[in-house]
Amino acid sequence: MENNAIRFACNGCGICCKGRLIPLTLAETRQWLQRGHEVAVILEAFDESTWDSQPHQFTHSAQRAVEVTSGEARIRVVAVLAGNALEQCRNLGDDGRCGIYEERPLVCRIYPMEINPFIALDPGNKICPPEVWEEGDILFTDRVVDPLLADQIERSRQADRDDAHAKIALCEAMGLNVAAWKGNAMAVYLPDRAQLLEALDRHNCGIAAPAGPGWKVRVDAPALRHQLHQKGVALDDQLSTDYIFHRL
Ligand code: SF4
Ligand code: SF4
Repeated sequence: MENNAIRFACNGCGICCKGRLIPLTLAETRQWLQRGHEVAVILEAFDESTWDSQPHQFTHSAQRAVEVTSGEARIRVVAVLAGNALEQCRNLGDDGRCGIYEERPLVCRIYPMEINPFIALDPGNKICPPEVWEEGDILFTDRVVDPLLADQIERSRQADRDDAHAKIALCEAMGLNVAAWKGNAMAVYLPDRAQLLEALDRHNCGIAAPAGPGWKVRVDAPALRHQLHQKGVALDDQLSTDYIFHRL
């Protein structure tokens, strides 16, 4: 077991607080907005017919998604709410320290572990400086060693599932109804902070997403477009500029 052990000692460099979107739970999103910071909304759609990964990965994705109507088809949509730290996190102080350390989001608490259980811990794929893997306590053997960290990881994954319907209902209430196709691209909305906070307060956690035919999918790969069109999925042909279409 010890031979496979991965040691880790965060040096507080703050690299993980820059150049990224920070996935937030619904409760963390409200706090983030109330602090005056922006939140991006990322929408991805998928269905079983085009799924090319393992079936248990589909089950995982389905648990954090909501089945909705798109044209004549039923598809699943997952919404990710993410703090905008594309330049750097607004909570990162000039001293390089987190200004909300005691209240920082779960995703910040668990890094370099991930919310996604299918991303294996590989130091070579992490943005942490190489030296932080050379000492410190054992972080991981065949599982996470620290029970507190293991609990935080599970809480982040549970929130992902628990918040799924409320996040989709929030998107529908705000008219954010075009998703990209998972694995092909991401549709990234940057809604007005005050409007998102107001919508979040109006459409409180726990409500079910209303059934409706309003969802569309933006796809630019010809073969996939054809496949989804054949299934009756409503495609966004307006090439809306309401969102950033980020090809993968
Ligand atoms: S909330 Fe704190 S730990 Fe998380 S990205 Fe921002 S500065 Fe870093
Ligand atoms: S990049 Fe890694 S070492 Fe640096 S603060 Fe983030 S978790 Fe710690």
